[in-house]
Amino acid sequence: MGIFTYADLLYLFPYRHIDKTSITKIEHLTTGTEFAQVQGKLWYFETTGSGSAKRLMAYLKDDTGVIELTWFKGMTWVEKILKQDEIYTAFGKISFFMDKAQIVHPEIELVNNTATAVKSYLEPVYSTTEKLKSKGLGGRQIGKLTAALFSLIPEKDLEENLPYYLLQRLKLISRYEALLNIHFPSSAAKYEQAVRRLKFEEFFISQVRLAMVRIERHRKSRGVIFGKVGDLFNTFYKEHLPFSLTGAQKRVLKEIRTDTGSGHQMNRLLQGDVGSGKTIVALLSMLIAIDNGFQCCLMAPTEILSQQHFATISRMVEGLPLQVKILTGSTPAKDRKVIHKGLTEGFIQILIGTHALIEETVQFKNLGLAVVDEQHRFGVEQRAKLWKKSLIPPHILVMTATPIPRTLAMTSYGELDYSVMDELPPGRQPITTVHRYETNRSKVLDFVRTEIDAGRQTYIVFPLIEESAKMDYENLMSGYENVKAFFPEPAYWISMVHGRQPWELKEANMKRFKNGDTQILVGTTVIEVGVDVPNATVMVIESAEKFGLSQLHQLRGRVGRGAEKSYCILITSTEISNEARERMKTLVQTSNGFEIAEKDLEIRGPGDIEGTRQSGVLNFRLASIVHDKHILEAAKKIAEEVVEKDPELLLEENNPLKQYLLSLKGKTPWSKIS
Ligand code: ADP
Ligand code: MG
Repeated sequence: MGIFTYADLLYLFPYRHIDKTSITKIEHLTTGTEFAQVQGKLWYFETTGSGSAKRLMAYLKDDTGVIELTWFKGMTWVEKILKQDEIYTAFGKISFFMDKAQIVHPEIELVNNTATAVKSYLEPVYSTTEKLKSKGLGGRQIGKLTAALFSLIPEKDLEENLPYYLLQRLKLISRYEALLNIHFPSSAAKYEQAVRRLKFEEFFISQVRLAMVRIERHRKSRGVIFGKVGDLFNTFYKEHLPFSLTGAQKRVLKEIRTDTGSGHQMNRLLQGDVGSGKTIVALLSMLIAIDNGFQCCLMAPTEILSQQHFATISRMVEGLPLQVKILTGSTPAKDRKVIHKGLTEGFIQILIGTHALIEETVQFKNLGLAVVDEQHRFGVEQRAKLWKKSLIPPHILVMTATPIPRTLAMTSYGELDYSVMDELPPGRQPITTVHRYETNRSKVLDFVRTEIDAGRQTYIVFPLIEESAKMDYENLMSGYENVKAFFPEPAYWISMVHGRQPWELKEANMKRFKNGDTQILVGTTVIEVGVDVPNATVMVIESAEKFGLSQLHQLRGRVGRGAEKSYCILITSTEISNEARERMKTLVQTSNGFEIAEKDLEIRGPGDIEGTRQSGVLNFRLASIVHDKHILEAAKKIAEEVVEKDPELLLEENNPLKQYLLSLKGKTPWSKIS
């Protein structure tokens, strides 16, 4: 169970308490009783069967009736402790078999075997494993160990880990008192105080560590300085920028300016909802770098996205004295040579491309800024290669369209600097989202036809997940045939993309759709990231119940990029889980990626959210980033205050905290995104 030390045992908190003073009479047990504790004399017990069919039955009798206790496993230990005619208490889940109450695998103990030295009106119950249970270490026995431990540690030996001034200021009880009361509450009020204190402690300790990493990095890292905003930026801003920036774009740009002018390396994560306009922020940042004499690169996860960025950016900077080049897997060797030369000699200022641009052969004269688009498609190691491209590591801007809920960002990305763009450019038409059952698919396709006949394009997406890949693949193929039958050539043209195609074919099919040669793109989620086809107005998602919320939101973001009204149609089977129904409802109701991310977190819990699994900083025992947001916010704020005032925790008053952090050796969170 991961318990190696006394401290581990102290921090194994009970998942519930039972009122041990309460004993239910056997005749009062009903089918509605969930858990109960009964007490009675052991009438008799017997074993039946043998080998794996062996079972042990014991009958406990109080003055109102008899209950059957049954074991299928771990009988050796139970048989040893059972003695006829002794009084036992038994606790467990009550079930009824042929009208008779029974408990399968109860926790059983001899009465007057009261080793518990701690006074508490409630008895803690811990989660344990079947294996431990079969050795007599059930959920209540762990409580006995904990009680025994408490009787051995004097209060003074359990050192406080929070500064005393914080305990006073926040009216928190001491660590000893909190731990004692979380296990053995002396009152309901004390229990609440213990919970509050320990939740704060969890968040606070993790926030202090994150703040220390962040502040340390700011102090120690060396970064190239973009000291000024020059001609390129100004000319572009005044004469080329086709719109005015949103407030969010301006704010983020300012944050980037501050970072890149500070002399320390920027390592910033920019989260912007789909369509919030991250590309222009990237471009403006690059112009600042170039104005200061540095080169830049922009890395995208696919060939087609690189092409798209290259086209957009080249078009926008037309007329400016700038060399923009693209480098991907399909760049011919001879062009590649020219690019390599241009980079080392410094006359190419902006290089756009795929993974190809982190290959070792690609060297810059003075790379100052590396932008990584759609972050989650790149591995950490791949990004690390960017650092090695110049003597002083370039500034890094990682952009993602997958919003991360604030609380999650605070905990799992807390050591990074991050910016949020939660505002869409004005004038966007909202996307109408509806949920339809598959029994109405032909109506949906009728609607698609009216849109296509009006000159628009449509995506039809099918799930393809690893666990059911074969079936999903067949669904995709039969779905494709169905769409083809509905939209026959030559009136309609369809392209299909999926992960099993060679990438050249995939990209070619994608391109046909992008160029308007096909009106329908049938595919799996390979189309999810970043593709921009303003003429596409309908996104049909088949088996939408199989997708997660943020993925659905991403897919929806592929439409609504042009001037025309757009639609997202979620098709599900009629029988879907409540959770899936909840997801559909959320999408229909809101188009705000951050709200959706919050909801996702609420429904699924932090463990499943993309990008958090590897971070290992979410192992909170008590506190929940979903339910204890306000505690987290407070802990973060206070942690920052403490660390800013005393970055190395040298002050006497912070010594308890320092000593505790030192004792948590070897558990540092990863400190860099790239
Ligand atoms: P994303 O953040 O999803 O990468 P893009 O950068 O592709 O978004 O921008 C989406 C679209 O919005 C592009 O066509 C872009 O030109 C446009 N856009 C970006 N910023 C603004 C703005 N401030 N005002 C109007 N349109 C904008
Ligand atoms: Mg983008």
